[in-house]
Amino acid sequence: MEENSKESFYITTPIYYVNDVPHIGHAYTTIIADAISRFKKLADCDVFFLTGTDEHGQKVEKAATEKGLTPLELADKVVVNFKKLWEALHISYDYFIRTTQPLHEKGVQKIFQKLMDKGDIYKGVYEGWYCISDETFLSDDVPLEEEGCKICPDCGKKAHVVSEDCYFFKLSAYQKSLLDFYQKNPTFVRPQSRMNEVVSFVSQGLKDLSITRTTVKWGISLPRDPSHTIYVWFDALHNYLTGIGYDWEPKHFRQFWPANVHLIGKDILRHHAVFWPAFLMAAEFALPKIVFAHGWWLRDETKMSKSKGNVLDPWAILETFGPDPLRYFLLREIPVGLDGNFSHEGFIHRVNSDLANDLGNLVQRLLVMIHNYFGGQINNMGEEKDSDRRLHLEFDLLKEKVGQHYEEYALNRALEEIWAYINSVNKYLAENEPWKLAKDNARRGRLGRILYQAACALRGIIPLIFPVMPESSQKIWKFLGEKAPLQEENFFGLEFFHFKSDQKTQKPAPLFPRVNLKDFLKEEESQEIIPSKEETMDVITFDEFKRMDFKVGEIMKAEQVEGTEKLVKMEVNIGTETRQMVAGIADKYSPEELVGKKVIVIVNLKPAVIRGVESRGMLLAAEVGGQAILPIFTEDVPAGAKVR
Ligand SMILES: [Zn+2]
Repeated sequence: MEENSKESFYITTPIYYVNDVPHIGHAYTTIIADAISRFKKLADCDVFFLTGTDEHGQKVEKAATEKGLTPLELADKVVVNFKKLWEALHISYDYFIRTTQPLHEKGVQKIFQKLMDKGDIYKGVYEGWYCISDETFLSDDVPLEEEGCKICPDCGKKAHVVSEDCYFFKLSAYQKSLLDFYQKNPTFVRPQSRMNEVVSFVSQGLKDLSITRTTVKWGISLPRDPSHTIYVWFDALHNYLTGIGYDWEPKHFRQFWPANVHLIGKDILRHHAVFWPAFLMAAEFALPKIVFAHGWWLRDETKMSKSKGNVLDPWAILETFGPDPLRYFLLREIPVGLDGNFSHEGFIHRVNSDLANDLGNLVQRLLVMIHNYFGGQINNMGEEKDSDRRLHLEFDLLKEKVGQHYEEYALNRALEEIWAYINSVNKYLAENEPWKLAKDNARRGRLGRILYQAACALRGIIPLIFPVMPESSQKIWKFLGEKAPLQEENFFGLEFFHFKSDQKTQKPAPLFPRVNLKDFLKEEESQEIIPSKEETMDVITFDEFKRMDFKVGEIMKAEQVEGTEKLVKMEVNIGTETRQMVAGIADKYSPEELVGKKVIVIVNLKPAVIRGVESRGMLLAAEVGGQAILPIFTEDVPAGAKVR
């Protein structure tokens, strides 16, 4: 076998606790990890992406008993829920670790024993205020309440004094080593504010950690003292080692350890940035390179939590939008590290403007024009002008900038840059007006060049978008007529002219649904259909009918008329010419799904000006419940065909 010469990259999410339903917070961490993992794969790294579930502890035991299940039966069910969600979100993890797997349990027991033998773990008695709900001893600075008890600052429940025999890890012995390590690795914790928090916490002195329980049965027991169960945090953190083969696939383990980045929520920073490196130092493992603490998604400015009942269910969004709009929104809206506020208004606005309008329109417009004017195949004909070259030069800069942002986990910045470029391509098309050039056979070379240049630009950005929107980018990739899998592209080897001359492109299908906020929130109950008034029918003569000129028109371009909810301005090809028409159909059809549609048009109607926009002709549509429904043809008909 050939020796692997690629750079290895190991990324993890926390393992999620099975006493929980998968919610937007879990989805967020995992989507970040997935996007970075996909980027690193495109950048030609050998990537390992680990996620999984934390299945031990008192809360799981309690929840299982309440449901009449064994803890493992409960975990099995929850694991299925997590895996289903990851599949629906297109999460491409390489391994899913469960802390109930024997390979994990044995690894943890082995490390525990190693630290015992070294003297880093010793037996003693622990007494402290303990929150059962959070399975954690309260820190000493939590004040006593009036009734002489302590309240857990995390969940607000009453804590209990617990005193028990237990094993301690000598965390206090690692204070200096930790501080030295932070000083040498000032970007170990990101963002920087979190690093400062950690340094300040460790500087105040560290107490030894109790790492076993005799009161909890559901967990990994100590082989030499089986009345003790290893405490969940000591158990869980070691998944990062066992999940890549520690003690069961040593070669794989050596390839990927230390981790390049542990992605976590900021609520588990101390465990990952203080306890975990100390455990690793004690067991003589190399330390991870980065612990990246991301922020929380808030709703109405408060943290989502099960107890507050304001948790956002990702399935509600997935069912309507599919995975990419959610992935895009979560990564675009805020920098990794800061808190964000999730509102349906904000979400739908982003989807409609960035995805349906900017990207969706570009794909539709461009590919429909290539199809209509060149039968789906274009080449680099015509001379290249400065404005054409600009698109190319901008792309070369874009690729570098986006690559840097991805490397820095600045996913929102990467997307900002890509969308600025998308708008630049849209502007290029708008300024060059290919639909006008198409009317003039003498300018066919120029038309071809413009469409070719825009196709190169679109082809170029697809691998840049792929880490964030794998499903849509694969669709666009296929529309562009690319044969090789998108995953095999090399991010830093991308070239503007990789779009090949005479590549056979396809007519695109709509990519992103345009969803109305009210429809989504179902504020409007079932719409009432107002029965039309009975009217005496006006009779026209056959001659009068014959005077009306109906034709098949093809919509070449469509955009919503600014400041209106329903009006769409279109360029409609009626065979002999392309005309501008306006119709009140935006509530039913998005501009990009209109492009390419064949409709019935009355062409000899007196031109009218609607909201300041001239309409030369009118589309026929059925009116149902206040909405216009366009008739469709069951066979392919050419634009300009007469309708009688
Ligand atoms: Zn608590």
